Amino acid sequence: RKCLSRIKKTQHLNAYITVTEEQAVAQALEAEARLMRGSPKGVLDGIPFAVKDNFCTENIKTTCASRMLKDYTPPFNATVVQKLLDQGAVLVGKTNMDEFAMGSGSTDGAFGPVRNPWGYAAPYRESPGVDPDSDWVVTGGSSGGSAAAVASLTSFLALGSDTGGSTRNPGALCGAVALKPTYGLLSRHGLIPLVNSLDVPGVLTRSVGDAALVLDVLKGVDVKDSTTISSHSTFAPLPEDLDVSKLCVGIPKEYHAPGLSEDTLQQWRRVADMFERAGARVQQVSLPHTQFSIVCYHVLCCAEVASNMARFDGLQYGHRSRTDSSTETMYATSRHEGFNDVVRGRILSGNYFLLKQSYDKYFLKAQKVRRLITEDFKQVFESGVDVLLTPSTLTDAAPYSDFTQEDNRTRSLQEDVFTQPVNMAGLPAVSVPTALSGRGLPIGLQLIAPALQDRALLSVAQWIE
Ligand code: GLN
Repeated sequence: RKCLSRIKKTQHLNAYITVTEEQAVAQALEAEARLMRGSPKGVLDGIPFAVKDNFCTENIKTTCASRMLKDYTPPFNATVVQKLLDQGAVLVGKTNMDEFAMGSGSTDGAFGPVRNPWGYAAPYRESPGVDPDSDWVVTGGSSGGSAAAVASLTSFLALGSDTGGSTRNPGALCGAVALKPTYGLLSRHGLIPLVNSLDVPGVLTRSVGDAALVLDVLKGVDVKDSTTISSHSTFAPLPEDLDVSKLCVGIPKEYHAPGLSEDTLQQWRRVADMFERAGARVQQVSLPHTQFSIVCYHVLCCAEVASNMARFDGLQYGHRSRTDSSTETMYATSRHEGFNDVVRGRILSGNYFLLKQSYDKYFLKAQKVRRLITEDFKQVFESGVDVLLTPSTLTDAAPYSDFTQEDNRTRSLQEDVFTQPVNMAGLPAVSVPTALSGRGLPIGLQLIAPALQDRALLSVAQWIE
């Protein structure tokens, strides 16, 4: 009930698209009865959680923050949602996002932008030059609603999705722990796809220990997702006093990217020093193909988007235009009315990249570059590096007016410079809040580990937390 009343109090954040109040209260009462009897349903019995609105939820609207799906109610739960419910967790609502998870600000959804709770907190409001009445800051995205839900204490954990950084980016900007697990460790069944070869369900929590607990619940093979892999590790509890003195921490030199803020750089150095003082070996490494990641991602993303979005034709799913002059016109107008300009732009680009005459030049080449990016990580880890330490984002959260300026349209793409290469390589990574910037906004650092080393990754993350 406390979470539900906080959701009401924090409505100005626009973090939720749907609040499932009645069901939540009923589920919570059942959980309470079970707990009183001493027979909990599972490790998460009675724990409130929120879910990004691109995961299917049975009999609960799932909109992807798009007019296209504004009235879509799936008849089933995504596997990861079902797993949380099976452990007794209580769903409080579906969270706001960028339309179809395309974006880095949570400013591009059909239901309006998400506002960052830290923009309303004293350190930011009292910092020089901020007008507390008009300046508010973005959450990052595209899982901004989920990050805001955790940061504003309306849920204890939230599911996001991460294709190029969409869980880690808002996690960093809202001061939440944000985990992108190894590709395939968690089922994507019921997650409405953006880029199937890069998408993973992400986990946002208040602490690293909580993320480990949730990962334990969510992991595992799913017959409904052929890319899932089995894992015999258990993630929780994590070691309390990790000895980092045998650890080798890599600092990728290419991540000193243009636009990196002084505050973020300082945090990066501070935590690197912390490792060194504790006896870890901290060494500079090179991931030479990092610079190609953004363009490579753009080609691959648009190509898969063009294919994935074809299902939204106004017949089987989603919005259908009233135009009935011909079937062709009906398709075209339904899609025109249903999708925003970001989605339409990516469909057009993707179809262009996949044309017979451009396929080799763009799509095939991007696949090859993706392989090179993956190889970069492989070589670094094979050389003895255990984890990589990088910033999660270039800066702290931007004011909405800056973020949405027309000449900042490409900013959305640049935002993911530190997070996207990880998706290309399918690796696990986590963003951990480490400090507040000079403006009183959270800064997050990212740790990256070899595939399937999610437990080792979280153990180190807990050490710096
Ligand atoms: N910002 C990236 C994009 O717009 C990544 C989004 C994501 O991870 N879902 O595609």
